[in-house]
Amino acid sequence: MADCIFCKMVAGEISPDVVYEDDDVLAFRDINGQAPTHILVIPKVHISTLDDLDDTELAGRLLKTVSKLARQEGLADDGYRTVINCNEKGGQDVYHLHLHLLGGRQMIWPPG
Ligand code: AMP
Ligand code: ZN
Repeated sequence: MADCIFCKMVAGEISPDVVYEDDDVLAFRDINGQAPTHILVIPKVHISTLDDLDDTELAGRLLKTVSKLARQEGLADDGYRTVINCNEKGGQDVYHLHLHLLGGRQMIWPPG
């Protein structure tokens, strides 16, 4: 999608700090990290929101990538948080589906 910043990353027009890539998924460090580790996991195809995600195999790959990266980053045993913000009241700013992986500090509940 032409105006989508995450599609520009997939296309190589913007170079994020990539931590993982395969045919379907890209993962990179959030530019405005909210925890010592803050990674975004995205599908390479443009899907605007969680509400638009119909491909259950891709959904599984995205989730599995989060858990693999959490272990790779040394977060798995202590714990981490995965967040998907959906639409305006969910706090979504970038309308290309992304899973936040946050870790390295104590998370609190409820979230803001
Ligand atoms: P959300 O509010 O769930 O849509 O999250 C969007 C996330 O994308 C925010 O945490 C931003 O810091 C992050 N972000 C925006 N632009 C970039 C970028 N160029 N590189 C890395 N992360 C970005
Ligand atoms: Zn996109």
